Amino acid sequence: MGAVNTEVAGVLERIDALRDELVDTIVRAVRIPSVNPKYPGQVYDDVVGGEGEVSRLMAEVYRALGADVDLFAIEPGRENAVGTLRGAGGGRSLIFNGHVDVVPPGDPAAWTSGDPFSAKVEDNRIWGRGSTDMKSGILAQAFAARALGEAGVRLAGDLILESVVGEEVMDHECGVTATIERGYRADAAVVSEPSAPPSPLAVVPVSPGLLWFSVTVPGRASHASMRGQTIRAGGAGAAVGVNAIDKGFLVFTALRALEEEWGLTKQHPLFPPGHFTIHPGVVTGGPHGVLVPFFISEFMTIEYCVWYSPLDDPEDVKREIEAQIDRAADADLWLRENRPQVEWKLHWPANTPEADEITEAVCSAHETACEGTAFAGRPDVVGFAAVEDATFLTLGGVPAISYGPGDLRVAHAPDEYVDIDEVVAATKTFAVLAMSWCGLA
Ligand SMILES: [Zn+2]
Repeated sequence: MGAVNTEVAGVLERIDALRDELVDTIVRAVRIPSVNPKYPGQVYDDVVGGEGEVSRLMAEVYRALGADVDLFAIEPGRENAVGTLRGAGGGRSLIFNGHVDVVPPGDPAAWTSGDPFSAKVEDNRIWGRGSTDMKSGILAQAFAARALGEAGVRLAGDLILESVVGEEVMDHECGVTATIERGYRADAAVVSEPSAPPSPLAVVPVSPGLLWFSVTVPGRASHASMRGQTIRAGGAGAAVGVNAIDKGFLVFTALRALEEEWGLTKQHPLFPPGHFTIHPGVVTGGPHGVLVPFFISEFMTIEYCVWYSPLDDPEDVKREIEAQIDRAADADLWLRENRPQVEWKLHWPANTPEADEITEAVCSAHETACEGTAFAGRPDVVGFAAVEDATFLTLGGVPAISYGPGDLRVAHAPDEYVDIDEVVAATKTFAVLAMSWCGLA
């Protein structure tokens, strides 16, 4: 045990010594605008390539630390980088995974910190799109592996470093799932997504599921001046016209009620009360053609994003939502005959790995690595607020959890940043974890 403690101390010292180089490498990575080319609003051909450029940078880092590097793409310009550090034998294997793609920066004028890809270092933070989500995470993992080597530590089990594309649009076939299909598997995986809130460097063994659907309600067009005829007692009603927007709000209200019910009924020990929601994110409606209020509207569409509990079966969740829409429709004369149309557009499954061992290993690695720092003590163990690639590692047979520097509250937002002390602390945890999980040669 004494020998191990000495080795840990040596590795942690190496990481402190590498701090400036770690920051410089994150800065290089953030300066590459690796916007996901399939993100809504992007022109694929104009944007593709940034991801591959970050992966090539990661491959260079992996190669320099002595890993066998595999750079491969499912779509040109969208390379994934995998670096394998073969263990001496006899230990458990571990995957460190993260994604190289970022979401678009949005309106640059909203960035008070300057250009979204300048990667300014100020106030002990690295600013810029991708700093938190999640170039710091993949480089913390790589520098952990580098520090092990430089401190003379050889692992017993294999350590596999992965930087993958496509995460931001669930394009897992091009990214994380492609690594599984290429044969990269391990006894566990840790994805270095930003794992705050509620606290920096929380341990995240579970994530909710995500469903995206739209519901469209039909109306019947007429001149807007006929509104009285269509809604007042004694008028001609639906024979003259039906305003789809009025009918759409019946569905909206019904789903709002179901969401309130979920606040009371959907509980999970690792999520705050009320986390599981039915979020109406986009509403469109009006006459077909030009959007002016001088017609009785012909359609209303609401787009919903559903965050469902990892304890729930997604098919049950879909049935529950459709049943609620049906009840709203059954209670209305027009909708009874002109049913709302539901279209399910995306399903990102929940992550529910059998991962008690790796979760405990990350917690105790954090305690060892962060002793005497601002992050000292037992980390919070919580559910992830959003969805991420850990799901697809778990579905691919590698139990995956998340832990990493950064905060979801600044990810996808203007003025994204990451705290440098947090990045260093995460790097130390990853190094100690690799030693305890994979064992020493
Ligand atoms: Zn992410």
